Amino acid sequence: KQKLKDNALLKKSFNLSKKNWDLEKFPWSKNLKKALTDVFKIKELRPLQLQTMNASMSNEDVILIMPTGGGKSLCYQLPAVIGKGVTIVVSPLVALMEDQLNGLHKLKVNAKMLSAKAPKEDVKAIMTGLVDNKSDLKLVYVTPEYMAKSNRFMSKLQKAFEMKRLDRFAIDEVHCCSQWGHDFRPDYKFLGILKSMFPDVPLLGLTATAPAKIIVDVQKMLDIQGCLVLRASFNRPNLFYEVRRKPSDKEACLEMIVSLLKNRFEGKSGIIYTTTIKESEQLTTDLRARGLRIGCYHAMLEPEYRTKVYSKWFSGEYQAVVATIAFGLGIDKPDVRFVIHHCLSKSMENLYQESGRAGRDGEKSYCILLYRLMDVFKLSTMVFQDKVGLQNLYKILNYCLDQSSCRRSLIATHFEETWAKSDCKEMCDHCKKAKKKKEMDIGPSCRHLYQIMQKAVQSEQRLTPLKLLDAWYNKGAASLRVASVPTPKFPREIGEAVVGYLLVNGYLQEDFHFSAYSTITYIKRGPKSGMALANDHKIMVEVDDH
Ligand code: ADP
Ligand code: MG
Ligand code: ZN
Repeated sequence: KQKLKDNALLKKSFNLSKKNWDLEKFPWSKNLKKALTDVFKIKELRPLQLQTMNASMSNEDVILIMPTGGGKSLCYQLPAVIGKGVTIVVSPLVALMEDQLNGLHKLKVNAKMLSAKAPKEDVKAIMTGLVDNKSDLKLVYVTPEYMAKSNRFMSKLQKAFEMKRLDRFAIDEVHCCSQWGHDFRPDYKFLGILKSMFPDVPLLGLTATAPAKIIVDVQKMLDIQGCLVLRASFNRPNLFYEVRRKPSDKEACLEMIVSLLKNRFEGKSGIIYTTTIKESEQLTTDLRARGLRIGCYHAMLEPEYRTKVYSKWFSGEYQAVVATIAFGLGIDKPDVRFVIHHCLSKSMENLYQESGRAGRDGEKSYCILLYRLMDVFKLSTMVFQDKVGLQNLYKILNYCLDQSSCRRSLIATHFEETWAKSDCKEMCDHCKKAKKKKEMDIGPSCRHLYQIMQKAVQSEQRLTPLKLLDAWYNKGAASLRVASVPTPKFPREIGEAVVGYLLVNGYLQEDFHFSAYSTITYIKRGPKSGMALANDHKIMVEVDDH
């Protein structure tokens, strides 16, 4: 029975997606165009904006998946402006709502916000505006927490609904409904009652998080299974993606960054992302000492100071900002020509989002990730307690280890899209110039590493990744080395790649321990060790061939 129901829903969703939502013959089409130019001063709609608006205004429930910066807000703001009633916008963060309110007030649109901090007059204006047919109140922004807590607001909504003044619910960052999302918020659960409480009011969910599993979960939570799902492409054709090996020597790494900023990116604007606050401060100091104009940005700085850094960067006084991922929300600089990751991100999703701050104006821009295996372990101790933290981290590790695939096609896989190699147009390191690489069977290496690990277990010692590699390369504590294990014939970077591959593929695994001050990761045999122990078990991978 469930299967029949699922099939019916699939069919419904499929039929909806086959409709021509981009026609301009809807009763509101003229008004829509007029408000676009008169109110929003926008010349042209972007892909899927018109489809989304037409479907939502036809009272369909819609989920729109579109990358950050794609223009999701307009899809409910514009219908709100030409509608007779009120649009309720649910958003997780007050800062995000304030940004939008400022924008709308400049356009003379009557929009207000309800949150724990909202002034009493505003609350009153909203409560009366909702149920007043003569009010010009168009949008009410509200956090899910507020909705869940305020009976007064919910009963006003009920009344507005009976008066047919509720045009639609727009639910921003709708992936927050799903436990599988990277950003689950329990308060979003409350939104599950909207469909039964306000049956004919269309829901419009918006997100930049794409996996089908999450979208299905969201539909279930909101009780809109089989609704129209519109998916924009995540391809950013003007971004050049590159992964570089990060020198283990700190000085050499600085040289690399300095050279990029002084040569390729001379006179260009960019962002350099680091993992920790301490690193961002250190890197800023080091780059300044080499004569570069650099700002520093992280969450522990005073808001006024951060604003100053942002405006100096915006005006070009700073060539680049060295920042933690706190630098992200509300960046609206069109000509960011480069984003350098000083350390890999926590996930492909993060990498995509952070890199995506480059090239908003459509001009060619560079996204360079500096990769070193040891950086993975800094991150793994930070993310291993999240449900899918390690899984996400190993996916990006795999992206870094890859020696031949088109970076775009790897990113596309993550967003469950398929892009042909021709979609890249030589805009990634691998498509531009094939690397020298060779296939290697790392089965023997794996067994050597197991021997080292076995000895450590016998002598009741634990192996950090560094100690493991040292022992393998005949360095470090003599007590950890194993005489019968030969020193690898390949350089240490390849040795690191081997350990990376073995981790990603489950032949090794991390083992986390809490010490008084930090979390430490040790390496032990992985779930696939049984297979690897057989002497003829091959593990073929591609490595860099010097
Ligand atoms: P998202 O929520 O998808 O991340 P926003 O709704 O915040 O993106 O929009 C990003 C920027 O794009 C905003 O400055 C917005 O004004 C602008 N924008 C949206 N649609 C268009 C359009 N059709 N033409 C030009 N600019 C647009
Ligand atoms: Mg948005
Ligand atoms: Zn490519």
